[in-house]
Amino acid sequence: MHELSMANAIVKTVLDVAEKNQAEEILDVTIEIGKLTMLNPEQLRFLLDVLKEDTLLEGAEIIIEEIPVEIKCRACGYTGSTTLDDSDHYLMIVKCPDCDERNLEILSGQECNVKNIRVEKPD
Ligand SMILES: [Zn+2]
Repeated sequence: MHELSMANAIVKTVLDVAEKNQAEEILDVTIEIGKLTMLNPEQLRFLLDVLKEDTLLEGAEIIIEEIPVEIKCRACGYTGSTTLDDSDHYLMIVKCPDCDERNLEILSGQECNVKNIRVEKPD
């Protein structure tokens, strides 16, 4: 299950950072999810809520930012956002909106990062 392994990795990353910073409490965590990762943000949030129990993350607010897909078309040079044909869940097709070309450079939309962690430190 895609979302579960991702959620596990996020929790581990955040707790590692918190530990290195001697955090007493994690206030909030911002996570960037590119549309092309095919991660379901609601499902990810649900799993994070389960996994954060009994950890430093327990009281933290989870903020999920979805990153839209941006492409550069190798055929016509179009650069910008595009819409996804995700009618087939297992094969997401990205096409140039101008010329329908599928020979593209993906500029964004593949992110899956912990972007920001705010912690409470002891004085
Ligand atoms: Zn094009």
